[in-house]
Amino acid sequence: ILDNLTPVGLDPILSLSAACRADTRPHKVDLGIGVYRDSHGETPVMVAIKMAEARLLEQQSSKSYVGMGGNESFNESMIGLLLGNSKAAARTAAIQTPGASGALRMLADVIKLSSPDATVWLSDPSYANHAPIMKTAGLKVRFYPYFDPATKLVNTAAMLDALRQAGKNDVVLLHGSCHNPTGADIDLETWKNVTTLAVSQGFLPFVDMAYQGFGDGMEEDAAGLRYLVERVESMVIATSCSKNFGLYRERTGAAMVVGKTLEQAQAVKSRIMESARGTYTMPPDHGAALVDMILRDEALRANWMTEVTTVRKRVQALRGLLADALREQSGTNDWDFITRHKGMFSVLGITPEQAQAMRHDHAIYLVDSGRINVAGMREAQAEQVAKALLAVVQ
Ligand code: PMP
Repeated sequence: ILDNLTPVGLDPILSLSAACRADTRPHKVDLGIGVYRDSHGETPVMVAIKMAEARLLEQQSSKSYVGMGGNESFNESMIGLLLGNSKAAARTAAIQTPGASGALRMLADVIKLSSPDATVWLSDPSYANHAPIMKTAGLKVRFYPYFDPATKLVNTAAMLDALRQAGKNDVVLLHGSCHNPTGADIDLETWKNVTTLAVSQGFLPFVDMAYQGFGDGMEEDAAGLRYLVERVESMVIATSCSKNFGLYRERTGAAMVVGKTLEQAQAVKSRIMESARGTYTMPPDHGAALVDMILRDEALRANWMTEVTTVRKRVQALRGLLADALREQSGTNDWDFITRHKGMFSVLGITPEQAQAMRHDHAIYLVDSGRINVAGMREAQAEQVAKALLAVVQ
C-alpha cells in the first residue's frame, strides 16, 4: 500500500537553516528563519512563561483530558485579547487549536463543509502555508494583488479593485498585522474600505492574526480587526501564541467564529470540534494553560506585555539600523521602506539570483523570495547586511 510514494523536496526555509548551520564562515547571518531572536541570537522562553510554568507545576494535579474545545477559559481569554471590548465578542465562539496552523485548517474544513464551492482569496504573496492548507481542505484559492514591488508597500487601489469581484461564495483572508512575508500592512482606511466591501458584497472575512503586539502594540495591531468585526454579520479568525508568547513548539492557538448570533457561532464551533475529533481529537494543553494564566493574572500579564514591548522595540530598532546603513552607504532613500514595514519580516524586492548571491558571496541567508527576518540580525551586523545588499543589487 505504501509503494506508490516518492519523497517530497525539502522545505526551502528549513533547508536554508540547515545550510546556514553548516556554513563555517564566522560572519554568517541567518535572516531566513521565521522565529524571533534576541540580541544573543537566541529564541528565549519568556520570563512570564517561566513564571507561569513554575506555578502550573505546583498547582496541576491531573493530566486527564481537558475537553473537546480545549481549555475553555483560554478560549475566552483569547477572544478578549483579540477583540477587546468589541460588542461582537458576545456573538463569538472560540476553540483551542494546535497553533494557528490548526486553526487555519479547522476553519477551512468548516467552510468546505458549509459551502463546498467556496473560493478563498489570499494576498499576493501570502504566508507560504496558506494556499496548501486551503487546498488540502478542498477549497479553491485565488490571489488578490497586494504587494507593490515599486513602493514595497501595499497596492491598496489594486487590492480593493480585485476584492470588488468577491461575492457571497468567497472568503477573503487578511493578515491581522505584521504581514508575512512582506511586512507591508494595510492601514485603517483600507480596513474600513474592506469592511464596506464585505458588507455590500457578502464575502466572509477571514483574519489570520499571528503577530499581535509585534507591529505597533497589542491594541493597535488589533484595530483593523476590531473595526471589521463590529460591522460584519459573520467572520472567522485564526490566531497564534507561537510568536507573542514565544510558545512555538507548544502548538498553541485558537480558531474563532463570529456569528450573526452566539447560537450560530456555537453551532459552527460544534462542527469544528467534530472536524477536530476526526483529525487529532484534542489540542495539547500545556501552552494554553500558561497563556490563560498569564492573561488572567495582573502581574503576569504586565510582565508579559513588557516583554512583548521589548521584542517590538528591538525589531523596530533593527529596522532603523538597517535602513540608516543602507541610506548612508547608497546615498539614497530607496530602502527607507524597511522602517515602514511591521513585524519581523520584510520583502526586499530582490531577485532569487540576488538572494542566492547574498548566501554564496556574503554568507547572508535569506529565502529566494527576498524575505528577510529582521530579528535574525544582530545590531552589529546591520552595516554588513547593508553592504552585501547593495553589492548584489548593483
Ligand atoms: N499564520 C501566519 C501568518 C504565520 O506567519 C504563521 C507562522 N509562521 C502561522 C499562521 C502558523 O503559526 P503556528 O505556529 O501558530 O501554527
